[in-house]
Amino acid sequence: MNFLQNADEPDHLRLPSSCVLCDIAKGIGPEFDTENYVLFRGRFCYVVLNAFPYAAGHMMIVPYAHEGDFVNLDSTMLLESIDLARAAIDALREIYNPEGFNFGANLGRAGGAAFGDHIHFHVVPRWLGDTNFMTTLANVRVIPEALSQTYMRIRELFQAG
Ligand SMILES: [Zn+2]
Repeated sequence: MNFLQNADEPDHLRLPSSCVLCDIAKGIGPEFDTENYVLFRGRFCYVVLNAFPYAAGHMMIVPYAHEGDFVNLDSTMLLESIDLARAAIDALREIYNPEGFNFGANLGRAGGAAFGDHIHFHVVPRWLGDTNFMTTLANVRVIPEALSQTYMRIRELFQAG
């Protein structure tokens, strides 16, 4: 009986909590989402602001399932993640009017993934000549406040559909 009940639970509720992306996946309630900058929860993935952004509006699209190998990703989930990337790009265009985007994934730690064992997709707004963004961010020194401001603006657009 216990096994059957567990089998009915979504994958992300049965996973160990040693993964920050899983911890966010398992979070419940609007307060949790606000504190963790979760912008949207879909069926298979959620959208969250990167807490250490390369640029204002840097988002991550994260599958609920803890999967580290790209070839194991489910097609339905992948479709939703592409849809969410489109919504993210749409929202970022409206707010920041960027000149371009980076969209993609770093696969494995050697590929640059910070959470190498839980695949996620980045959407980063880009501007011509923004390559010294780290310096800019370091000089601003108000990232938490800027992050919450970014969050409120983008979330509004996501909730409006
Ligand atoms: Zn995980």
